[in-house]
Amino acid sequence: MTRTFEGNRLLVATHNRGKLDEIADLLKDYNVSVVGAAEMNLPEPDETGTTFLENARIKAHAAAKATGLPALSDDSGLEIDALDGAPGVHTADWAETETGRDFQMAMERANNAIRETGAPPPWTGRFCCTLVLAWPDGHDEVFPGTMDGQLVWPGRGDQGHGYDPVFQPDGYDLTFGEMDRWEKNRISHRADAFKKLVAGCFA
Ligand code: IMP
Repeated sequence: MTRTFEGNRLLVATHNRGKLDEIADLLKDYNVSVVGAAEMNLPEPDETGTTFLENARIKAHAAAKATGLPALSDDSGLEIDALDGAPGVHTADWAETETGRDFQMAMERANNAIRETGAPPPWTGRFCCTLVLAWPDGHDEVFPGTMDGQLVWPGRGDQGHGYDPVFQPDGYDLTFGEMDRWEKNRISHRADAFKKLVAGCFA
């Protein structure tokens, strides 16, 4: 039996502003006030897992335990078939620099790595998202989502965040970076997982 979310305050266990905004938008019809991990001064736990699920669990349980609030985490990333699924759980790490995250650099790295394989286009892949809703008593619910598409180069568009400019979802001529936020939030990997979360825990 899936546990229902009963409160009206949900902690979103992310320090990523782009993700927090997307999640607030996806939950706007459910009468929940959404608070981010940075606002609660929570530390960022080490993501030591080898799967999206393990990392999502680490983040959600750490936040629920620290605050006593139900906590929702999102672990997500980009799998590129020509790179055997990389960057995968290391998607954010590919953007890491000494002075913060640089996604232009990360997108170039992905493009260079694909070129080095000699794989012909289309360079297929997918965005994956695993949502974990954890309660302070240790219970959790898990909801996975995906969006298939292809990597394009050069990137296009300046909407969105992260790798959005280089990802063109299947069935669209636009990249996530060119889509308006409403459209992306209707079809994305996160939207897919959210539909399942809402049906399971907010219905
Ligand atoms: P996480 O915070 O460890 O889950 O890192 C996920 C990484 O995947 C971040 O670097 C994000 O920028 C990237 N990512 C996840 N979802 C999206 C998306 O919808 N668009 C662009 N990049 C994304």
